[in-house]
Amino acid sequence: MDLFYKSTRDSKVRVTASQAILQGLSEDGGLFVPEAVPALPVSMKELADMSYQEMAYAVMSRFLTDFTESELKDCIAKAYDSKFDLPEIAPITKAEGAYYLELFHGATIAFKDMALSILPHLMTVSARKNQVKEDIVILTATSGDTGKAALAGFADVPGTRIIVFYPKDGVSPIQEKQMVTQKGDNTFVVGIRGNFDDAQSGVKSIFGDAAFKKELAEKGYRFSSANSINIGRLVPQIVYYVYAYARLFADGEIGENEPVNVVVPTGNFGNILAAYYAKQMGLPIGKLICASNDNKVLYDFFRTGSYDRNREFLLTSSPSMDILISSNLERLIYQIADQSDETDRRLMKELAENGRYEITSVMGEKLGDFYGGYASEKEAAAVIRSVYEAVGYVMDTHTAVASCVYEKYRKDTGDSTKTIIASTASPYKFTGSVMEALGETAEGMDDFELADRLAVLSGVPVPGAVEEIRRAEVLHSTVVNVNEMKQAVRGFLG
Ligand SMILES: *Cc1c(COP(=O)(O)O)cnc(C)c1O
Repeated sequence: MDLFYKSTRDSKVRVTASQAILQGLSEDGGLFVPEAVPALPVSMKELADMSYQEMAYAVMSRFLTDFTESELKDCIAKAYDSKFDLPEIAPITKAEGAYYLELFHGATIAFKDMALSILPHLMTVSARKNQVKEDIVILTATSGDTGKAALAGFADVPGTRIIVFYPKDGVSPIQEKQMVTQKGDNTFVVGIRGNFDDAQSGVKSIFGDAAFKKELAEKGYRFSSANSINIGRLVPQIVYYVYAYARLFADGEIGENEPVNVVVPTGNFGNILAAYYAKQMGLPIGKLICASNDNKVLYDFFRTGSYDRNREFLLTSSPSMDILISSNLERLIYQIADQSDETDRRLMKELAENGRYEITSVMGEKLGDFYGGYASEKEAAAVIRSVYEAVGYVMDTHTAVASCVYEKYRKDTGDSTKTIIASTASPYKFTGSVMEALGETAEGMDDFELADRLAVLSGVPVPGAVEEIRRAEVLHSTVVNVNEMKQAVRGFLG
């Protein structure tokens, strides 16, 4: 059966999966949602026998119904290969009574790789299916993680170019080095003299520039976006929740149909939304526990029903969760509004104009699957240390927020359901903060020296992604002012 996607802001919009992937966002500003969430294709016993790649096909083929079997299998084979450092792709480590689902074994050692390694392939197939003749130009503004994962995913993919803008003085030394050493003739990395918001606004204004769009179309280019609202990122993220459950079942850790809770360190609400879709497919998930850092907009939302971004933006040691507008939450809002595009439009207009909105109590009652929690900087650091001291397992700063919220949840509710914690980054990506939490920083040590020390402490070797950039050549050195971004795009595309 064919599955179509509609816009959260206009129910009359109806597109295929490949069209939704190409467009990213609907023209009305809404997000694409499946008209109905499909059920799991086969029994848990059968799922338990599948490899990651087989599972990816079983799950994704239910959502991307206009892809042929060979198209989708080809995308999966190109994405989940030896770029991942373990054949399991997403292994599980048991520590201190929880299952850590490690989503950081890809090329850039953060969970963004799970989706960004397949998105470029989904996009080029979508372009072919819809007779798009132009080359696809991905424009991305990044605060660190997304930029590198998108570069790694799109590098050398035929028919695509990727341009990443990052704040020249706003990313960590390792993050910058990862980006400026990126290989591939179709990649272009540009530092801007400004902050992340400036980069983001600059990219948005290029997307909205009709004359520029036309100029580039004449040269054979078409813009697209790789950001986390694209269903081509959301759907691949559902796979690993099904995979994790099936692995635990296969290993006898859980019984058939035994409910399992999931804790997700959350920023833009993409990863946890994928878990919610997995639950809607019939996966026996109990609570979806949404973990925030000090930027706890979502915690407040789940507690009060009021979403309010009017507050100070705090810089934390879990920077990929430093977000005040969680874009993917709109899909959940639409769902609890009984799929009313009118309600969704009204609330999103309030958010755009006043920075806040409030849901009704009837809508609030439909949030029973979720639990919101948060961890302060101190609490998260303490968890890194205590879990390390107890069992020798070192987690990163984002995962630590989730782990801390998991502890608070158990104390708060007495719920002892078995729990999967989404582990979203390698500790090697945030070495400075992790080593500080372990009480191991020393004056004058750079991030690479800290990584060597972390390898000794944790017994986990320094990942290839870090070794690779230690001595890599800088290939991108363009730095521009915010008002020169368009010119930079023109320059790269010739
Ligand atoms: C992006 C990211 C998150 C947040 O995920 P969302 O899908 O935006 O909620 C958490 N941890 C890490 C390491 C990330 O890179």
